[in-house]
Amino acid sequence: MIIILKSHVTDEQVQHVIERVEALGLRTHLSRGVYRTIIGVIGDEAKAHLVPLRAIPGVIEVIPVLPPYKLASIEAQPEPTIVDVGGVKIGGGNLAMIAGPCAVENPERMDRIAASVRKSGANLLRGGAFKPRTSPYAYQGMGEEGLKILRETGQKHGLPIVTEVMDPRRVELVAEYADMIQIGARNMQNFVLLTEVGQAGKPVLLKRGMSATIQDLLMSAEYILSQGNSMVVLCERGVKGFDNATRNLYDVAAVPSVHALSHLPIIVDPSHATGRPDLIPACALAGVAAGADGVHIEVHDCPEEALSDGPQALLPDQYAALADQIRKLAAILGKTISAPPAMAATPA
Ligand code: PEP
Ligand code: MN
Repeated sequence: MIIILKSHVTDEQVQHVIERVEALGLRTHLSRGVYRTIIGVIGDEAKAHLVPLRAIPGVIEVIPVLPPYKLASIEAQPEPTIVDVGGVKIGGGNLAMIAGPCAVENPERMDRIAASVRKSGANLLRGGAFKPRTSPYAYQGMGEEGLKILRETGQKHGLPIVTEVMDPRRVELVAEYADMIQIGARNMQNFVLLTEVGQAGKPVLLKRGMSATIQDLLMSAEYILSQGNSMVVLCERGVKGFDNATRNLYDVAAVPSVHALSHLPIIVDPSHATGRPDLIPACALAGVAAGADGVHIEVHDCPEEALSDGPQALLPDQYAALADQIRKLAAILGKTISAPPAMAATPA
């Protein structure tokens, strides 16, 4: 950390800063120039965060040398993290193909969608049982019944399942069913939820908040990692923009930006990012070309009957065509797509 002092800082002020820093067990290196005096801090930077150094008279700027997300940073671990979700690998050259409806609606529909996306090449099945909706009057999800349907469908089709948890009190319940727990955009900074999920012992899909910076996203990942859970996959799902031509503003640059800063995998969700089925294929491919570790797509067999996010759902055939293109691009880029686990034996 570097502390920059004001131009006309007094010797007493400099001495006071040094004393505060050294009282933390850190060493200092004073450098006095003609116009500027700076103090280099040597030692564990986290300790220096315990003191509001900017508030000390004479200090104008405190510049950290290391990022505040210690565990999530590339400095902490240069090689990419590979997250294993029921045998499906994500990260380090492995692409996740997550597909399914926005919400679990009923067993028959879930079965049809799962059969079709698996045939098209998906390796993970999604579906929300607890839905975060802007309106309290909108469909809220099936709750535990939805988790059961999702798990049974996933087992039948050999697809590990991804589903959202919104409430810290429900983490244990959702973790009983899910192979991967999703934290939605609206909850990215629900720190109590992040801490609970960090203790649940399951892989986590952490979606970027709609007005969260990349640093905010990595700090939220840090909450989970700091609980001892290193199985975190990030997700770019669009941020608030000024143009309502698309549902959100798809930030494809977030993918290589995260890869430059962190060892954690990052996937893209062009369904929520654009809200437009006509744009999803191009944006999914752009994400993979930018280095995404997976693609998360909402698929519905009858979007006009969907209870949630129908207008942005791809039809099964559209997903099949897109998955085919993703596979071709993945081959060019030298990426691997884990085969999903074997299907459950159908009872005779
Ligand atoms: C979802 O995945 O259906 C969802 C609600 O996503 P987000 O949190 O990104 O809006
Ligand atoms: Mn949705």
